[in-house]
Amino acid sequence: MVCAEGYLFELERRGYLQAGAFVPEVVIDNPEQVTSLHRDFVRAGSDVVEALTYYAHREKLRAVGKDGMLEEMNRQALALAREVADESGTLLAGNVCNTNLYDPQNSDSHGPTRAMFEEQVGWAAEAGVDFVIGETFRYAGESQIALDVIRQAGLPGVITLAVGQQAETREGDSLADACRRLADEGAAVVGLNCIRGPATMLPLLAAIVAAVDIPVAALPVPYRTTEDQPTFQSLREADAFLLPDGRPFPAALDPFTCNRYEIADFTASAHAAGVRYFGLCCGAGPHHVRSMAEALGRTPEASRYSVDMSKHAFFGTAPGLQEHNREYRDRL
Ligand SMILES: [Zn+2]
Repeated sequence: MVCAEGYLFELERRGYLQAGAFVPEVVIDNPEQVTSLHRDFVRAGSDVVEALTYYAHREKLRAVGKDGMLEEMNRQALALAREVADESGTLLAGNVCNTNLYDPQNSDSHGPTRAMFEEQVGWAAEAGVDFVIGETFRYAGESQIALDVIRQAGLPGVITLAVGQQAETREGDSLADACRRLADEGAAVVGLNCIRGPATMLPLLAAIVAAVDIPVAALPVPYRTTEDQPTFQSLREADAFLLPDGRPFPAALDPFTCNRYEIADFTASAHAAGVRYFGLCCGAGPHHVRSMAEALGRTPEASRYSVDMSKHAFFGTAPGLQEHNREYRDRL
């Protein structure tokens, strides 16, 4: 299974969404852009159209003073995804995410957290989603509430945790234990998404695969994270004087972006480690998704235009190319 994500960053780059709050007002303001990106991702090989309801939740909209848009934003995001899922024959997924409200030490936050999931999952169920993705949870406890709400609605839940610089949940649980609990509580798929790039997510996957008997998901951010800087928030530039906050996250990560061959390499390695649900998170573009699909042996529609250098005027090898250009290649 391939499930393209990364809507917020891609729409931010295209000029339709604001970095910082990362609220998907684009579904109201420029819905055609969301539809277009859904189509781009399906064309690149995504088996799923995921409604752009990430951060379209009560706590986030309250924080930016847009509470009144909550239901409209969710229903519109679901309708846009529905249209593309129907026309392409792909699955439709609803989405809930980290509430930023849940606090394991404060039991008063647990009820409102559940209520936020209930309203979003309710709208997703009414839209007829095939399953609900609950993602980017740093707290295992919060992910368990999301899963419970999804199961109560009678829907399959794909639950993925977001892992910071320490390879554990924010409560300090091992990822294997947290994922095993989610599997025991009825998750259809468990795994990791966002925050870590391929190089620093890959080493965490085998232990999760070994801990559960359901499919495991891996959706890294397409950035060159390292052992010292394992997350995209912790990446640093040597010469950062141009960066307003002194760090590349979120709007100056371009020089760290993985190329499509690195994504293909990650996909093959993660598949060998037992991962069966693939995707990419913040920062991914359709070319990354296509590379992932092709590494799994697929030929999505966009593969028609996958790289073929044989007819390049200077680097090509096809008959009929001008020899005087081919001889010049090393001077380009
Ligand atoms: Zn992400």
